[in-house]
Amino acid sequence: MREVDPRRRVPRTDALLADPALAAAAGTLGRDRVKAAIVAAQHRARRGEITPERVRDAALAALPGRTPRPVLNATGVVLHTNLGRAPLAPAAVDALVAAAGHTDVELDLATGRRARRGREALDALAVAVPDAAAVHVVNNGAAALVLAATALAAGREIVVSRGELVEIGDGFRLPDLLASTGARLREVGTTNRTTRADYAAAIGPDTGFVLKVHPSNFVVTGFTSAVPVGELATLGVPVVVDIGSGLLAPDPLLPDEPDAASTLRAGAHLVTASGDKLLGGPQAGLLLGDADLVERLRRHPLARALRVDKLTLAALAATLHAPATPTGDALRADPGRLRERTERLRDLLGADGCKAEVVPAAAVVGGGGAPGVELDSWALSLPERYAVPLRTGEPAILGRVLHGRLLLDLRAVPESADGHVRAAILRVAG
Ligand SMILES: *Cc1c(COP(=O)(O)O)cnc(C)c1O
Repeated sequence: MREVDPRRRVPRTDALLADPALAAAAGTLGRDRVKAAIVAAQHRARRGEITPERVRDAALAALPGRTPRPVLNATGVVLHTNLGRAPLAPAAVDALVAAAGHTDVELDLATGRRARRGREALDALAVAVPDAAAVHVVNNGAAALVLAATALAAGREIVVSRGELVEIGDGFRLPDLLASTGARLREVGTTNRTTRADYAAAIGPDTGFVLKVHPSNFVVTGFTSAVPVGELATLGVPVVVDIGSGLLAPDPLLPDEPDAASTLRAGAHLVTASGDKLLGGPQAGLLLGDADLVERLRRHPLARALRVDKLTLAALAATLHAPATPTGDALRADPGRLRERTERLRDLLGADGCKAEVVPAAAVVGGGGAPGVELDSWALSLPERYAVPLRTGEPAILGRVLHGRLLLDLRAVPESADGHVRAAILRVAG
């Protein structure tokens, strides 16, 4: 018996216009434009360029102004830099939307007077880290470092261990970033070992501060030694610590990851961190520490150029108030529950004639955090040919290709999206 001519399976225009994603697009782009994209995709299917099941995704992909495209992160990398690191908590999303219009970002409505910009976020940060006498927020972690280096060490020296001059990704190297501020780097120690005496010998009248950088994306093992913050704090110069990840307090799940509170308690004068890594908030750079140092940063002309916008401030405040973040939930997801979700997905797919397997997997924190930490996880394993259509579909689903299989780890996928994952896989299966 011959198969039904695939061209006869091309979905009808009215059925496609009723699809939620296409209907939503019609609401923002206009029905005519969406209809034209549907008709073009139907033609492609009739010409045999795409399968009938792909018409919907092809029509969506052809629509203009649909970037950034939302992506379901099934990579098993919780903080995926190329996917924008931390997804925001629902409360932070609401706060972003609320802040889109006119807001009281720099006004005290009670008195009618000008007020400190972003005070809600700054207050929430101060409450979250009582060990910080003062806090400030800039655009990102790199900006926090640049501001500290410019305001505290331009034309002077930053003393830093050779083993901590890291590249943070996409070719950005911390030493270059710091040197661009006009500060001179005074490297001490060796790649694997640096002692207190190395720092002490380098400190002099030209020292702006001692910098300690968390080597966030690699580990050095073997014959190593580094100087704890507490010992650096006895050197008699300001100690600035770039902890990277934005962990505000110790997390038992990540015992080796430095946090702001412990670092300040150990004697650091200033801590810099990112807002969109383990903190789970918007892209931002956090500065926490001594009141006089933070005030010097706040008053520096460069601070204005690194100022965060009202949307970020709103999202950051909401993140700090929220009881949980999607990042925290993904990190803490129970492997047993992940296995159940993945097996259920496999069973439902099987009932529709699509064969998949469930395999153990190892997820990672990512975003330059907690190197070497593996989180027990599970993955749905599909033939590799699923990778491209899922990645370019709607919603876009990004997995990991390993040994000829596409692995989908649901750890960082909201459970509410499981139905979308299933539907997308079935569309590719045809
Ligand atoms: C991520 C990171 C940075 C850069 O922070 P951004 O927010 O990406 O600018 C700097 N230092 C360390 C140690 C980091 O992990």
